[in-house]
Amino acid sequence: MKRILVCPVCKSKEIELDTGGYTGKYYCKNCGYIGSYVLEMTEGEYKELTEGEEIEKKKDDKMRPKGVRED
Ligand SMILES: [Zn+2]
Repeated sequence: MKRILVCPVCKSKEIELDTGGYTGKYYCKNCGYIGSYVLEMTEGEYKELTEGEEIEKKKDDKMRPKGVRED
């Protein structure tokens, strides 16, 4: 299955190996991030990641531990 590289900062797929892979670091064309750590995932996982972020804002109540809100 094809895997894509995703920027850990801005979640962009615009990732390239810096300097042709010589340094072993990655470069994000979207935000300018340079580092050896990037996210690697399939298209499906990437879709879940980006969609999950939007959902996360809406389900704020569910993220809290049970029993905390008793009012
Ligand atoms: Zn980026």
